[in-house]
Amino acid sequence: MPLKDKKNRKIYYNSWREKNKEYLREYAREYQKKNRKRLSNNAIISHREQLKKLKEELYLLLGNKCVRCGFSDFRAFQVHHINRNGGKTRKKFRNIEYLKYLIIEAKKQIKNKPSIELLCSNCHAIEHYDDRIKLMKRGQKDFKNRGGKSGRSKLIEDDVREIRKKFNNGYSIQGLAKEYGVGRLCIRNIICYRTWKRVE
Ligand SMILES: [Zn+2]
Repeated sequence: MPLKDKKNRKIYYNSWREKNKEYLREYAREYQKKNRKRLSNNAIISHREQLKKLKEELYLLLGNKCVRCGFSDFRAFQVHHINRNGGKTRKKFRNIEYLKYLIIEAKKQIKNKPSIELLCSNCHAIEHYDDRIKLMKRGQKDFKNRGGKSGRSKLIEDDVREIRKKFNNGYSIQGLAKEYGVGRLCIRNIICYRTWKRVE
C-alpha cells in the first residue's frame, strides 16, 4: 500500500487531487453556497468569543485589578510591559497569537521576575508619560515611538527605502503592496513622501 509511507501518501493524494480538480472545485462551490450564512457567522462569533475567553484568562492570571490603584473594571484594563518591549513583541504576534503569548508570560512570572503587569488605562498613560519626560531630559530627540518602532507598523525603515528604490526601478504599486503585505494606498503614500518623510 502506498498509503502507509508518508512520502508516497502525499504523492498519491496530490495526483488524485490533480485528476479530480473539476470535481473538487464544484464540490467546494456547492458547499459554500449551501452554508454561506452559517460559515461566516460562526467564524466571526467564534473569533470574538475566543478573544474574550483569552482576555478573561489573562486578566485573572494578572490579578484582575490595576496594580497601582486597584481599579477593577476590565473594560479599562491594559497590559504594561515592564521592560518596555511591548512594541517588539507586538510585531512578532498578531491578535490571538499575541494574547496567547501574554498568557504564557503571565504564567511564567509566578516563578521569575514579572515582565508584564495589569494597569488601568489612567495608570498606564501616566507610566509612559513619565518615560517620555525622562527621555526628553536626557536629550534624546527620538523619544516618540514613530514609524517602525510602533508596534502596529508592518514596515520598518529599511523596507521603506527598499520600496522607494524598487518603485524607481519599475516595480508596480500593486506588486509592491502584495510583496510587503500592505495596501496600495500605503505604498503610494510612501512613494510620494506623504508618510515616512524623515526616511531618506
Ligand atoms: Zn490604575
